[in-house]
Amino acid sequence: MEHLLSERIKSTPPSFIRSILKTAADPEIISFAGGLPNPISFPQEELLVSMERIVRDYGSSLFQYSITAGLPELRQYIADRYNRKFGLALGIENILITTGSQQALDLISKVLLNTGDGVIVEKPSYLGAIQAFSQYQPVFYPVELTEEGMDIGRLKDALDHDVKFIYAIPDFQNPTGLSYSAENRECIRKVLTGREIVLVEDDPYGELRFDEGGRIPYIGAGRLPGSILLGTFSKTVTPGMRTGFMICADTELLKHISVAKEASDLHTNIFSQYLIWDYLMHNDYDAHIAQIRRLYKEQAQAMTEAMDRYFPKTVKYTRPRGGMFLWVTLPEGVSALSLFPKALEKKVAFVPGDPFYINMANTNTMRLNYTNADCRMIDEGIRRLGELLREI
Ligand code: PMP
Repeated sequence: MEHLLSERIKSTPPSFIRSILKTAADPEIISFAGGLPNPISFPQEELLVSMERIVRDYGSSLFQYSITAGLPELRQYIADRYNRKFGLALGIENILITTGSQQALDLISKVLLNTGDGVIVEKPSYLGAIQAFSQYQPVFYPVELTEEGMDIGRLKDALDHDVKFIYAIPDFQNPTGLSYSAENRECIRKVLTGREIVLVEDDPYGELRFDEGGRIPYIGAGRLPGSILLGTFSKTVTPGMRTGFMICADTELLKHISVAKEASDLHTNIFSQYLIWDYLMHNDYDAHIAQIRRLYKEQAQAMTEAMDRYFPKTVKYTRPRGGMFLWVTLPEGVSALSLFPKALEKKVAFVPGDPFYINMANTNTMRLNYTNADCRMIDEGIRRLGELLREI
């Protein structure tokens, strides 16, 4: 059947993580490989109450077809929240509910990309985005990510090419855990001002800041006319309900994206949208997020403290101040991929850095997730990994 396959799917990398997760499914393995929120962060009791209430109060509307743009009440909630927190001036016409922000990545590329068009991504970037964009066969221009954010010189070089959009995760990035500084955001904004280019800011982790600092303003939202901001309830309420959203000042662009969404799934599951909306209306969402932050702060600290204790000094790692991941850099020339089977023998798993880059193999980097093991398991897993790293 191979000859029947489209070029599109042949050029799309399979999800490396999913195959890794299968190998790491052994319950004895301490896995830092996944990207799952901690299930104790799901407000299950409250969601059960909401579920009963919405079925009682909204009856058949929950089970009927609905509009593509998404539940107006939920869109209004999102517009109000972002207006309040970020001084934006959004109305519901600026919000499109998506089936997770993953769908937004697909829709944006469907609407903007012809084969061979340029896309700027961070180096490294979120592998699910690389996968979504790859289906439309673009040319990628990866721009080095530094402790401060995007390397501005390299961004300018990349912009010399014919580029349709830039994809960035400025807060607690997946995979590195790094955030862009205010200065870096300002520089990017300056570089992009006046250019005909879309900036996609993907922000699933911004709410999960666990240090004291406040939020740094977005690069594009409210400042650059062609910018799109992505959000999701996946990391703060539940990923299983697949409810995300796209915020876009340019309503014409958003209309095209809505057409693409309509063609793809008509609308996002309306039961999920009612459920999330009702939960938000009847609970203290910010207090709930604060609890998740406390939990993840403890887990991140347990991981970096264990690394300080067990890792050789030649191994470097980021110290995230939010989000779910940290990024480890091994000495030059050491392949994280080749360490992976040895790590499994020691019953510990991570994601080798390779799939977060465009066409790079045997990189000396790895991503670790700290939100899915308790502090004692984190310490033990890092001790095992440390043993392995001292042998290289
Ligand atoms: N963007 C980034 C950067 C992510 O890390 C993820 C989740 N792993 C997504 C998008 C997709 O999230 P959602 O559940 O909202 O589809």
